[in-house]
Amino acid sequence: MRVVVLLGAPGSGKGTAAVRLAALRQARHVSSGDLLRAAVRAGDVAGLEADGYMQRGELVPDDLVAGVVARHLRLGAPAGEVLLDGFPRDVRQAELLATELERTQSRVHLAIMLDAPPELLIERLGGRRVCPRCAAGYHARAMPPAVADICDRCGTGLIVRDDDRPETVRRRLAIFNEKNGPLLAWYDARHLLRRIDGAGTADEVVARISEALAP
Ligand code: AMP
Repeated sequence: MRVVVLLGAPGSGKGTAAVRLAALRQARHVSSGDLLRAAVRAGDVAGLEADGYMQRGELVPDDLVAGVVARHLRLGAPAGEVLLDGFPRDVRQAELLATELERTQSRVHLAIMLDAPPELLIERLGGRRVCPRCAAGYHARAMPPAVADICDRCGTGLIVRDDDRPETVRRRLAIFNEKNGPLLAWYDARHLLRRIDGAGTADEVVARISEALAP
């Protein structure tokens, strides 16, 4: 398994880029946020525990999210490329991921940080709409669906995520700012870090990432 880690603040465009890259590269897109939201909807043990943290915009405990991601990775094909979106979010999670991958003689191939200024993050999160059924992401102005507020893929009505409310967004960005520096340093020390400009259209960002991933 060749694992590419996508790093970046909430609103940096990781999820959008990951969906497009997965289609282009026939890779698996694994989003910890989507997995946790699915667990909450399913009402399973992990979901019940994660729900409160997510509502408040806080990180769920490392072992909980690492367990959810590891179980999902183990269920999928052992070969091929995986685009990890939203995990790891701190150094402890990076260590848990490295340990999990060692089990299968896999490793992180590259950690790609999408850099975006705070104004852009706030703008993107403010317009974000998601499909509660298939998790497709849209932006009210920059990336609207063909029919207003309806998912292009599955026809479900789009929603604003609970944790995209302004006060929760501020908390999520503060937590990101606290955790991300040490995480970048951790990957940089292992010569695995590439920083990419996250401004511009989704196509532009995807092209930059593709270039970084070219052999
Ligand atoms: P996201 O969709 O990546 O913005 O994640 C939504 C929420 O899920 C976050 O605000 C956290 O509460 C939780 N979450 C997702 N990934 C992680 C992670 N790696 N560690 C801790 N909490 C996470």
